[in-house]
Amino acid sequence: MTTFHLSGFPRVGAKRELKFAQERYWRGDITEQDLQDIAKSLREINWRHQANANADYVSVADFTLYDHILDLQVATGAIPTRFGFDSQKLSLDQYFQLARGNKDQFAIEMTKWFDTNYHYLVPEFQLNTEFKANPTHYINQIREAKALGFTVKPTIVGPLTFLFLGKEKGQSFNRFDLLDKLLPVYVEILNALSAEGVEWIQIDEPALAVDLPSQWLEAYKTVYQLLSEKVQAKLLLATYFGSVAEHADLLKSLPVEGLHIDLIRSPEQLSAFTDYNKVLSVGIIDGRNIWRADLNAILDFVEPLKAKFGDRLWIAPSCSLLHTPYDLSVETQLQANKPELYNWLAFTLQKVQELSVIKTALEQGRDAVKAELIASQNAAETRKNSSEIHRTEVAQRLANLPVGADRRKSPFAQRIEKQNAWLKLPLLPTTNIGSFPQTSEIRQARAAFKKGALSEADYEAAMKREIEYVVRRQEELDLDVLVHGEAERNDMVEYFGELLDGFAFTKFGWVQSYGSRCVKPPVIYGDVARPEAMTVRWSTYAQSLTQKVMKGMLTGPVTILQWSFVRNDIPRSVVCKQIGVALSDEVLDLEKAGIKVIQIDEPAIREGLPLKRTDWDDYLQWAGEAFRLSYMGVQDDTQIHTHMCYSEFNDILPAIAGLDADVITIETSRSDMELLTAFADFKYPNDIGPGVYDIHSPRVPKPEEIEHLLRKALKVVPKERLWVNPDCGLKTRGWIETIEQLKVMVEVTKKLRAEL
Ligand code: GLN
Ligand code: ZN
Repeated sequence: MTTFHLSGFPRVGAKRELKFAQERYWRGDITEQDLQDIAKSLREINWRHQANANADYVSVADFTLYDHILDLQVATGAIPTRFGFDSQKLSLDQYFQLARGNKDQFAIEMTKWFDTNYHYLVPEFQLNTEFKANPTHYINQIREAKALGFTVKPTIVGPLTFLFLGKEKGQSFNRFDLLDKLLPVYVEILNALSAEGVEWIQIDEPALAVDLPSQWLEAYKTVYQLLSEKVQAKLLLATYFGSVAEHADLLKSLPVEGLHIDLIRSPEQLSAFTDYNKVLSVGIIDGRNIWRADLNAILDFVEPLKAKFGDRLWIAPSCSLLHTPYDLSVETQLQANKPELYNWLAFTLQKVQELSVIKTALEQGRDAVKAELIASQNAAETRKNSSEIHRTEVAQRLANLPVGADRRKSPFAQRIEKQNAWLKLPLLPTTNIGSFPQTSEIRQARAAFKKGALSEADYEAAMKREIEYVVRRQEELDLDVLVHGEAERNDMVEYFGELLDGFAFTKFGWVQSYGSRCVKPPVIYGDVARPEAMTVRWSTYAQSLTQKVMKGMLTGPVTILQWSFVRNDIPRSVVCKQIGVALSDEVLDLEKAGIKVIQIDEPAIREGLPLKRTDWDDYLQWAGEAFRLSYMGVQDDTQIHTHMCYSEFNDILPAIAGLDADVITIETSRSDMELLTAFADFKYPNDIGPGVYDIHSPRVPKPEEIEHLLRKALKVVPKERLWVNPDCGLKTRGWIETIEQLKVMVEVTKKLRAEL
């Protein structure tokens, strides 16, 4: 017997049923009971899929109406006290207020769940946080599943990861010191689950895959000693998203009954655990990607493990399947248009089938699943040899790039002189980050065009009208460097993916990003090339309308990579450089067409950083090269801008400077220019445009606020190097506030300019 289990399942449903139910509930269109009923039916469907695939345990306690870390805050009583709610008697509306804010309190902050695109709600710990067990939510799921006849294994994030992921609020203290108070509450919760008759509880400790301070690392011993002693159920300690080989001795010494390791992210860590003497759960199907597995290849290395471990070998996806879309079989369009690609993919339901086949093969021999293995093998072989994927010209071009292809012809000091000579901009030039309000008319036009209800010519004309409108408004505002407004773009990555070779799109390939929000990443399946110009006609049209300088607008290679499902048959670095080279064709075409200020957005550069610091340099090196390749070959007097937001860059400033953009615009207003100070301390050499107002709100900034920020900026950045712009693009704003906000920005800039 080989136990097949899972760490978690997507919650949103095959067609985002949960999202629509949540949103209807928030609008008041359905009752709490309706929402709970829908959630319940989604859980049942999830469990049936797992059981039908022969999973030995279905996953419970992973389902949530918003976020599993918020649920854990509720279960441990650690909800932020500022809301004034009683965690033991939390209503559903209060639960959603924690997640979404209310009129008095801002929502609990969100941040990325390790290196995924899922966002969890960051626990707010205080020196006087009192924990209190409230396992109702988990118990209900267990009872529900058992009533339907399923054998369950609850999964809960462990105490060290939970504390580690939180933040200290209020008085200064170290949240680690809360551990002693937290542990008894964990014991109580876990025993409440045990009392429901569960044999195993999975405790996730993904924090083990990041650089943990030694104090935290050492605590694993005492924490798991205590939990193993006090908790009735058997504990499976799960790690994922990286290697834990360096902690192998520690992990093997813990008195838990089993360990789970991620062999997709880090196959080489297996050797550190082959002498483990308890249950070893191996993550052998990728929970983070959408590619069909090569089942024979997996069996080749799992069979010897099976021989060694016998029934102590468990098999599972590498991590929760939360990070993969639900069901490939609903992608009928993809199946019809790209049957080969369709055959190379596996979403959640296909992945559990793959595990089912592996389980059968391990228990009964490969012959018992001959047909499935042949199908898998065929898919792997066609993928290896497909000319849709492997374009020799792309590989050759990358291999034959001249040395220094990713470097500008001259250093910044010389370039900027040549640029200023024709740009003739005033001091503190004003500009925008790219997008202007994406009005409902724009979205309707796009939807109608996609449905075929609007002709291409009519759609094109509608977008051109929009561009003209944006240009005229910017002229009226007297901005210096204009943008065309990005009306024609649905999404900054999808737009380019649709125009580049090597990309494909799904219809229902949604993955939860946070709460009710899902993203549908493009699929990069083949070598990337640009068959024809993508943005030139829009940018040149915009330029034709005005005497002012029009800035071209592209999404950078790292961001495109980061927000896509990426092929796993070649390194990410190579895919990224291919995108960079493809973009360089666009940059040169823009330049040729007279668009000589070109912005290449890289908001996602920071989120690509590996979990472990030791891997940062390598990433920053190839990411930087890919970015620089995207402007390969431009003239000195062409001005390259980049834009970044969402994050801090203090610790990667050398790499940011290494991108060698002539101008960088960054989000800074909410941090009161703190970030800019870091750039200044670092002596960031090129031009810089710190955001002077927050674009997330319709609020019109007061002139004094912008003046304060700009004066602060002028103290640390030479006036010749400073630009003025909002924090980010304006696509989520309405027109009325946009005009008012930009008016203030330009007015204040002119006032300060007069003093310089
Ligand atoms: N150019 C994009 C815009 O203005 C940049 C978006 C972003 O940074 N996320 O919308
Ligand atoms: Zn931005």
